[in-house]
Amino acid sequence: MRTDFTLAQLADPDTAESEKILRTCTHCGFCTATCPTYILLGDELDSPRGRIYLIKDMIAGVEEVTADTVKHIDRCLSCLSCMTTCPSGVNYMHLVDHARRWIEKNHRRTWDERGLRLILAQVLSRPWLFRLSLWFAAILKPWARFLPDRLAPSCALAPDSVAPASQTDRPGLHRPVGERRMRVALLTGCAQQVLAPEINEATIRLLTRHGCEVVVAQGAGCCGSLAHHLGQERQALGLARANIDAWERERLASGLDAIVINASGCGTTVKDYGFMLRSEPAYAEKAARIASLARDVTEVIASLGLRQPVAGVVTAKRRVAYHSACSMQHGQRLHAGPKELLEAGGFEPIDVPEGHLCCGSAGTYNLLQPEIATALRDRKLANIAKIRPDLVATGNIGCITQLASGCDLPVVHTVELLDWATGGPEPRTLAAG
Ligand code: SF4
Ligand code: SF4
Repeated sequence: MRTDFTLAQLADPDTAESEKILRTCTHCGFCTATCPTYILLGDELDSPRGRIYLIKDMIAGVEEVTADTVKHIDRCLSCLSCMTTCPSGVNYMHLVDHARRWIEKNHRRTWDERGLRLILAQVLSRPWLFRLSLWFAAILKPWARFLPDRLAPSCALAPDSVAPASQTDRPGLHRPVGERRMRVALLTGCAQQVLAPEINEATIRLLTRHGCEVVVAQGAGCCGSLAHHLGQERQALGLARANIDAWERERLASGLDAIVINASGCGTTVKDYGFMLRSEPAYAEKAARIASLARDVTEVIASLGLRQPVAGVVTAKRRVAYHSACSMQHGQRLHAGPKELLEAGGFEPIDVPEGHLCCGSAGTYNLLQPEIATALRDRKLANIAKIRPDLVATGNIGCITQLASGCDLPVVHTVELLDWATGGPEPRTLAAG
């Protein structure tokens, strides 16, 4: 793609990076075939190619940042299906991340949009505040339809009850069972530990059972992904720096073989820390080192080899619809590994038809774009129903919440099944079913 940025514009490192990305696009349009918003809406401006043109004109200053441009970029899920499809290797992720930051700096949203986006970024990243807001949401849920349009979807997605905080999410050390094979830091995250504390508990049991010493580092918390995708870069980078400092302290004090992440959306962001902080001399090197240590939990277990499943545990509920989260398959390019582990654990993982399409969760997307998100969820659930599974498994809390909100089948995290198969308790959602 031809670009006409001035030298003054290219002095900005973000614009210089975007210019390089734009130049790799050949406008072939292959990416449109796998873009969920183009498939649903049929508008070129809701396709990757259309958005690339919009972003180019926006950051080159050819076009003002109009409400219409913002609408089409906001409708992008950041699912990165286009990146998997693109034959020219266009880094759409970095381009759209830049566009989101650009919009936040150069466009004034309506007051209700600004308010909702600020609340989401501030509340979801703080477990105590999120837990408190979920208690309120559970009380308000029966009256959700009377709430303002912007708040109703958040209230409708809230669980009916909220589990108390788990001890495992506190900073501390979890000793390996038997000989120590690895020392890892676990990102316990933010929203996940509130919505499903059993996921971190299962992850720690699984890792320690496989010989990992697991540290939950003091000072580590939200990865910054939610704020990053809302274009709220100051908050996102602040959270990234705090994690990098916390894990660097651990690495220097006692060594770290990996940083384990069990929410693929967070994993995609932590693996990108080196890029996000590339222009900060005090952090660039540390950020790249931390990013290189980041692993999805299934990568770590695959490298250690899954223990023989406990005989007689997985006898029923075996047909697992494996929903490959976009951040797992497109963001981290991990697809076969989690399914192979499930198979080794005695399950029968089955790919969901149209598996490359997003379920509509996409961080805070289901709260900000509820109509498109619900259409994608219902399409995903219809595809899941076609394969008649006993349950659904995935590696991202956002997808679990999104799918469970419209589905009678149990929806669990992959690690809960692997933990169960190798000696842990039956996942709560399955035991209750
Ligand atoms: S597939 Fe790649 S090169 Fe082709 S239009 Fe899409 S982003 Fe551009
Ligand atoms: S990230 Fe997903 S929604 Fe956005 S343009 Fe690419 S394929 Fe479409």
